[in-house]
Amino acid sequence: MQKGQIDVKAHDIFPLIKKFLYSDQEIFLRELISNGIDATTKLKVLASKDEFKEELGDLTIDIRLDEEAKTLTISDRGVGMTGDEVIRYLNQVAFSSAQEFMEKYKSDDIIGHFGLGFYSAFMVAEKVEVVTKSYKDGSQAVKWTCEGQPDFTLEDVEKVDRGTDVILHIGEEGKEYLKKARIQELLDKYSKFLPVLIRFGTKTEYITEGEGKDSKQVEKEVENIINNPYPAWKKAPADLTDDDYKAFYQELYPYSPEPVFWIHLNMDYPFNLTGILYFPKLNNSVEIQKNKIQLYSNQVFVTDDVKTIVPEFLTLLHGVIDSPDIPLNVSRSHLQSDSNVKKITSYITKKVGEKLADIFKENRKDFEEKWKDLSTFIKYGMISEEKFYTKAEKFALFQNVEGGFFTIDEYLEKIKDIQTNKHDRKIIIYTSNEKAQHAYVQSAKKEGYDVLVMDNILDNHFMQHLEMKVDKITFVRVDSETIDKLVEKDTERESVLSEKNQEKVKEIFRNALGDHKEKIELKAMSPEDMPVVITKPEFMRRMMEMQAMQGGQFADFPEMYQIVVNTNHPLIADKLINMRNEEKKVHFAKYLQKLALLNQNMLTGEEMSEFVHMSVDMLKQ
Ligand code: ADP
Ligand code: MG
Repeated sequence: MQKGQIDVKAHDIFPLIKKFLYSDQEIFLRELISNGIDATTKLKVLASKDEFKEELGDLTIDIRLDEEAKTLTISDRGVGMTGDEVIRYLNQVAFSSAQEFMEKYKSDDIIGHFGLGFYSAFMVAEKVEVVTKSYKDGSQAVKWTCEGQPDFTLEDVEKVDRGTDVILHIGEEGKEYLKKARIQELLDKYSKFLPVLIRFGTKTEYITEGEGKDSKQVEKEVENIINNPYPAWKKAPADLTDDDYKAFYQELYPYSPEPVFWIHLNMDYPFNLTGILYFPKLNNSVEIQKNKIQLYSNQVFVTDDVKTIVPEFLTLLHGVIDSPDIPLNVSRSHLQSDSNVKKITSYITKKVGEKLADIFKENRKDFEEKWKDLSTFIKYGMISEEKFYTKAEKFALFQNVEGGFFTIDEYLEKIKDIQTNKHDRKIIIYTSNEKAQHAYVQSAKKEGYDVLVMDNILDNHFMQHLEMKVDKITFVRVDSETIDKLVEKDTERESVLSEKNQEKVKEIFRNALGDHKEKIELKAMSPEDMPVVITKPEFMRRMMEMQAMQGGQFADFPEMYQIVVNTNHPLIADKLINMRNEEKKVHFAKYLQKLALLNQNMLTGEEMSEFVHMSVDMLKQ
């Protein structure tokens, strides 16, 4: 038997491992399993080069839990180690990499906590035994034992098969890992798609035997296989059907609604990256679905916190990114400035843009049908990522109230004749709520204007962004001005009322509205229009909406509005002005104002009942 000391500095490392990584203890299992995978992969490579000529046999990695003996064992049938290799790899390589890791860890926050490797075993075990036999001909099996101290022993033992058993004698600190359910949970989290089969004992399955009324449920013990070693993202896109992609989505996120579509990423130069990104149904929301992309390194789950790896707007997507080239054992701050990561980020952005452009080109109909589900994502991307904007401006769509779809360019072309104002600006008229603004939409249509539906949660930002990017366009909400003023033209309509009568009308309305602070404005509009119209000036409304979004302190502030009296309407120009009784005039004006409020869905409570009473009284006359 050989005895030795790992290194003097090891006095520092064991307590550190326990102390610093306590919160992330659970990664020990991932680390030990990935060592088993590495050893298995190495053997496969040797076999493929004919340097290993025996049967590979069953390469499944076994996880065994013995609650009584308080051990957890990870067994592989990979390359194994000779006694010399154990000394070299476990005592020197593993140790120095663990030490390096700890030094980094002290100062920084590590993504995925990769790189601690073999020594993470000591986070949960008070004693670790490694029983291993090299694949090399005539190798002597050895057992390495270490009790969480720098001292270790190495002795010759009998072992039939090649490969390595890592036996963890679980200590008090790790006792949760003696529970079957906890281990199962960890395996599900980190090992779902590892490239070598992982088996954790057996499990009970219920199978129906027989047919019809003779059928019965039978319990059956089957192997408990944790992983799917050939996940969809590792396959060639040509070998996958739509159903395969959808099935894989369910594998990642069980019971989720079907994704809208997906992008299969696949490249090996200048870096290696595979993955599938899914576009989920976003349901007009951006918050709830974030952080669903899972990051893998050679099929080992690393993290689902990918904020630094993909641009913010892409975190709305779901799916998997797998790249051995992302430096997982460096800190977040390094990661952001890492040139590989930057390349990966712009590659993914580019790919997503291209894929959307393809669908748009190849099947516009399909794209339009998916627009509702895609628009939040695309708008988010256009607002936040210049590179994406440049691609997306060609396929981002506007939808009008008739349900027609237009690209930005198509739309500007469509409205240019009728909706260009006297300053040569194109005025884009929109409704944020078709139902509530129905009357206004109707008047705009009657005037020959086109009205867009802008009811996505990001639309306020999106429109503002477009006004910045696209030359000479302005968005106005359909109820922000009277129809005549929505698009300011050179010619103004003449008023049928004399100046003197106009003053009178204004006076009547002032009396009618009393202490109301709203601005009253007279306007010569079409006699076909409403006698009184409520407008909500675009600029003021936007200010309030922005403030409400930022601090919320104005959220309860009553909406600013303006009362516009149509001096050309017969009810004003003929009826009101010619009424004999002053009191009746005021009453009538009040009634018209309430009618206008009703038209804008602004009549509630006391005001509403007052209006109904006034109507009933009028009908009696
Ligand atoms: P890393 O895996 O990053 O090299 P580890 O600390 O996890 O670092 O492991 C150190 C070394 O120990 C490995 O590089 C490998 O040579 C050896 N090793 C660990 N586990 C096994 C195993 N199950 N089979 C064969 N060799 C192993
Ligand atoms: Mg390792």
